[in-house]
Amino acid sequence: MSRRPSPRDETPPPLPEPLTVAVPDTHCHLDLMGGDVDDAIAAARAVGIDVIVQVGVDLPSSRLSAELAARHPSVHAAVAVHPNEAARGAATDEALRGIEALASLPQVKAVGETGLDHFRTETPQGHRLQEESFRAHLAVAKRTGTALVIHDRDAHDDVLRVLREEGPPDRVVLHCFSGDAAMARTCVEHGWFLSFAGPVTFKANDGLREAAALVPLDLLLVETDAPFLTPMPFRGRPNAPYLVPLTVRALAAVKGVEVDELCHALAANGRRAFDYTG
Ligand SMILES: [Zn+2]
Repeated sequence: MSRRPSPRDETPPPLPEPLTVAVPDTHCHLDLMGGDVDDAIAAARAVGIDVIVQVGVDLPSSRLSAELAARHPSVHAAVAVHPNEAARGAATDEALRGIEALASLPQVKAVGETGLDHFRTETPQGHRLQEESFRAHLAVAKRTGTALVIHDRDAHDDVLRVLREEGPPDRVVLHCFSGDAAMARTCVEHGWFLSFAGPVTFKANDGLREAAALVPLDLLLVETDAPFLTPMPFRGRPNAPYLVPLTVRALAAVKGVEVDELCHALAANGRRAFDYTG
């Protein structure tokens, strides 16, 4: 998630051509999209998005994510206090205990999004609170055997440092990967998953495409981060899981592989990264 100003044009983009091999949207915020959740899930399914990872950003939205995942077999939950909330002091001991209790539920497959955001938070105090929260969430992921979903905005070196100092859990996902080729190489060496969102379709992001190009097919994920980061050609309009095919097709072009081949990999990677069978 990245709290952006609301989109300028509120008209939902049209449904893209469906994928023939279903893939997961491995990161979205159905509760922040403003519409009916069942409709959003149905629209996604209609174009070949059969699984959604629903991500909480504080204790109430994490609870909601766990509830949604309990109700919908095709929805899995990730729970955390977001770094931008942590910077405001929201990752209290009580909140972290609540997150750990949720992370122990069977439908909750990940702790996240957690990490560091030096773009939104500039004060040393805010950075310290974020880092403490990141370390605490990382420990929860280890104790509960869940994946760790990392939010990293303008904080690449510090995110890598904390992972090195704490020792990563078994499964790590760099959500909305925004690093360069060198960072991608480091993540690949560790066997971490790199998840690409709408920005990989933006004209100016050649560096990001260069990074995506070197990630082996078995470590790639795709996501919307809806309602944020709408892929081209609909940048600035509301994002939703049904727009994943646009990013998948862009990624297939970057990788120089057939869309179906990429989709098979994305489906298998989603199951491996988040340890679900559905
Ligand atoms: Zn997010």
